[in-house]
Amino acid sequence: MEVKLDSIKGIGPQTLRILRDNGIWSAYDLVSYLPKGYEDFSIVNLNDARHKDVITVLGKILTEPKLIRGGKVERLVFKAEVLKETLDIVVFGRSYLLKQIQKDDAIQIKGTYDLYRGQINASSIVKAEKRLAIKPAYGLEGLHDKTVMNLVQTIHDENLVTIYENIPSTFISRYHLLPRQDAYYKLHLPENMQDIYQAKRRMKYEEAFFMQLKMMASQKRGEKRLPKNYDIHAVKHLIEQLPYELTQDQKDAANDIYRDFKKDHTSYRLIQGDVGSGKTVVAMLAAYAIVTAKEQVSFMAPTELLAYQHYQYFTQHLKDVKIALLTGKTKNKSEMKEMIKQHEYDIVIGTHAMIESDVNFHHLGLVIIDEQHKFGVRTREELILKAHAKDVLYLTATPIPRTLALIAFGESHVSIIKEKPKHRIPIETKYITKDLIQEVYDKMHSALLRKEHCMVIVPAIDSEMISDNIETVYQELKNEFSEKVYTLHGKLSSTEQEDAMQSFVMEPGSILLATTMVEVGIDIPTATMIAIYHAERFGLSQLHQLRGRVGRGNLASFCYLISEKDDIERLQVLSKTTDGFKLSEYDLKMRGPGDFLGVEQSGYLKFKFLNLIDDHPILLEAQKNAIELLERPDFYTNPQFKYLVKAITPAPLV
Ligand code: ADP
Ligand code: MG
Repeated sequence: MEVKLDSIKGIGPQTLRILRDNGIWSAYDLVSYLPKGYEDFSIVNLNDARHKDVITVLGKILTEPKLIRGGKVERLVFKAEVLKETLDIVVFGRSYLLKQIQKDDAIQIKGTYDLYRGQINASSIVKAEKRLAIKPAYGLEGLHDKTVMNLVQTIHDENLVTIYENIPSTFISRYHLLPRQDAYYKLHLPENMQDIYQAKRRMKYEEAFFMQLKMMASQKRGEKRLPKNYDIHAVKHLIEQLPYELTQDQKDAANDIYRDFKKDHTSYRLIQGDVGSGKTVVAMLAAYAIVTAKEQVSFMAPTELLAYQHYQYFTQHLKDVKIALLTGKTKNKSEMKEMIKQHEYDIVIGTHAMIESDVNFHHLGLVIIDEQHKFGVRTREELILKAHAKDVLYLTATPIPRTLALIAFGESHVSIIKEKPKHRIPIETKYITKDLIQEVYDKMHSALLRKEHCMVIVPAIDSEMISDNIETVYQELKNEFSEKVYTLHGKLSSTEQEDAMQSFVMEPGSILLATTMVEVGIDIPTATMIAIYHAERFGLSQLHQLRGRVGRGNLASFCYLISEKDDIERLQVLSKTTDGFKLSEYDLKMRGPGDFLGVEQSGYLKFKFLNLIDDHPILLEAQKNAIELLERPDFYTNPQFKYLVKAITPAPLV
């Protein structure tokens, strides 16, 4: 039964109104309205206090407090004895205290300590018997925090609400967590910091637990299916035919995938590999295995250019496999769709046009999503719905810090490709100002002489605001170089884009002037030089991806970050390391975790207590517990878990 606020003793109409304005109508609402923070009144030893410290001490008033008016503000002054020392106490703008305190009173003083003058500039004075070691701050305008506390105390003493436990008791006792109700009251009425610590610890676990239960439940596509009956010999044969030997990390990732295929339920896996670490071939090996099992594969890329590149790569290596390219500009779409439905294609490579045009497969066995972070949250959700009951492979080149990857995907669903293929020479990165552009040109001249490919990146096509754009830089390059300069940007049609890209690739010793279109995935092993104008306009991971367009073969490569300013930290960081995993840790510190998980909008990350980074151990523990629950055969049927099942069941879409 819900207790309305107006039935609580001693609550006045004014208080009631303020509470209601803040959406607090019942005793339950009030208890659920947790403090925003705490003010600490822990007593310190005056002898340990340093000059200018904000301290709380207990003392006795030695002289009758006096009000002094001078200038605009009034101040109350008196002498007090603190640990046998006599201090001058000054309180600004609180003349009302004059009526409350007098000589010989024992008081608590909080304020800034002036060691040299033996003085405290007090921000708070209360009688010692009324002191609280810690005071919650509710931030309810017009209402004293103490008033709220008193109300909560009444609700507590008269037992007016019940806060139900929502964590299974096994976990409560396993981690010695406070029961939910106790935690709530301790947050409102703490006696010491330990109370708050214990209460917060419990709340953090609760948040972590529900987040993980949701995440793990949405990803645990453990739908029953037969183990995939792929032809291991055919796969091995394909690996032998590759022009290079796989790195150990590539082999491990492929084996992780094959192990998933052998299970009797569907799986999902995140393949994390730095730019140029060779994820495509791993995807191809996975796809090929599925084809040998007589099932179909859909492989989705975020741009047409990339889909086209994958299509070429796959057709080049998979001779007997029927592969379709389905993008926005595919002409004979309905015919192609019909053929996909009839299983006349084994692999369909495309952009999100594949979702839009509602492709039906005869027997779809695997969904691969390249550069998954490039798809918006909504598309990703659609993809997940479409891929329901299918095995899914996500590839990403924006290394999510390992810690976060595990939180989002779960320990056993992440494969990491850290090792770069043999014979790679680390890219040399230089951060320079525009006036040194001749150095860049010189480097380009020699690369072009060696018949290598050069890329120049600008942030805009023709902006008047940005001096270095496609138009202006094109002129500059034309003046400097006699080699061919191709341009690539969003104002070209997709056919023109492909043509530009294709011509560039086909002409060693040429230049590509482009916007960030080339950022994702584009692979040209003989590209050895990239110059990025207005580098300060790009984010760290974007720059890392752009830089990753070079250094993909066995030639020495260079990246120039050109900027007007010479003191931009992330450009300095970038010029010191090419390790995407290190960069992502740095980025995580600077920007927080939302961008990485791509879940900012979905509300997954709105926590009151939990910090995704600092509380990592709690998250991992909660993840284990969530999985433990989800794997119980009776989880979805046992009434004991009904409320949990309800909590993780998404609301219907309509
Ligand atoms: P990314 O991980 O950025 O998607 P790609 O899959 O495009 O990288 O691979 C980058 C380049 O490295 C490609 O040209 C590819 O053929 C080559 N490559 C991949 N694996 C190896 C390997 N084990 N040895 C040598 N080159 C490799
Ligand atoms: Mg790639």
